Amino acid sequence: MTLNILFAARPERWQQYRAPLESALAAEGLDVNLGTDLPPETVDYIVYAPNGPLRDFTPYTRARAVLSLWAGVETIVGNPTLKIPLTRMVDHGLTQGMTEWVVGHSLRHHLGIDSHIHGQNGTWNPISPPLAEDRRITILGLGTLGQACAAALTRIGFPVTGWSRTPKIVEGITCRAGPEGLRAALATADICILLLPDTPATENILNTETIGWMPRGAFVMNPGRGPLIDDTALLSALDTGQIAHATLDVFRIEPLPADHPYWAHPNVTVTPHIAAETRADTAAQVVAENIRRSEAGQPLRYLVDPERGY
Ligand code: NAP
Repeated sequence: MTLNILFAARPERWQQYRAPLESALAAEGLDVNLGTDLPPETVDYIVYAPNGPLRDFTPYTRARAVLSLWAGVETIVGNPTLKIPLTRMVDHGLTQGMTEWVVGHSLRHHLGIDSHIHGQNGTWNPISPPLAEDRRITILGLGTLGQACAAALTRIGFPVTGWSRTPKIVEGITCRAGPEGLRAALATADICILLLPDTPATENILNTETIGWMPRGAFVMNPGRGPLIDDTALLSALDTGQIAHATLDVFRIEPLPADHPYWAHPNVTVTPHIAAETRADTAAQVVAENIRRSEAGQPLRYLVDPERGY
């Protein structure tokens, strides 16, 4: 039977994904009609990007699943017209990209690299940075990305604490969980990395009170989602020195407006939501495998739980 698969993302993505999807679906032994403009009532699966045009799933009466190309699904998970299973993206390219961004920016702050790049003024000031073992890192969010980053950082020697909703045991790191574990997790956050999903429970998780639980002069890195941070609280903590520097990849409004105070603040680094990108070749294989599993009656991988919102 031929499966009708709708590709619902921005037009430029179609050029990028068409060939990788066709070849991954064929490799899974699936006979498909893949397109961007199929009659809704004929569609069996929807490959979906949250920033694409599709908002109303009602006409897709026979669709069996929506497969998101993004890891973060906050803009679709509460869509009242979505009545079928939703999967999120877990992909080697995404995980590796995030790990590289997190390790790179952690080392920048840990080694004080900026002072050498910007401080070439003829002064010989031989102060060595501490070793990694003397710089504690806390990762809020111990899922696919948080655990991959934790593993890479512990390999370098950083003592890592991770915080999640449900209790976990992860070799080599200290695990904290739930609202009652947050204070202890932040108490050792010389560097704090946010890798949580955007849900009602995680909104403003870094606020005036919780920032105050961190060691003075801590670094904040947010490659998770903009709403995780109360921006006013962070700006004020940067001004008082409670937070030494914030490296931010994600924002409540993207692109970050040109007049936003983050752009001009000397202790903020803005990266334009590039920490980790879904890579078409590897993501196509994840999508194709999931469609093959669904057709074989096997459970979908990376299912989103609408109740918990991620
Ligand atoms: P994931 O596997 O779903 O992991 C999410 C983690 O957050 C889990 O450990 C979860 O706890 C924890 N969590 C959720 N709600 C919580 C709460 N209320 N309190 C404490 N912990 C909570 O997600 P992922 O694949 O690692 O991705 C994480 C986020 O990264 C995504 O949601 C997305 O927003 C962001 N992201 C950003 C980029 C970028 O380019 N900047 C790229 C990809 C993803 P449990 O383990 O107990 O469930």
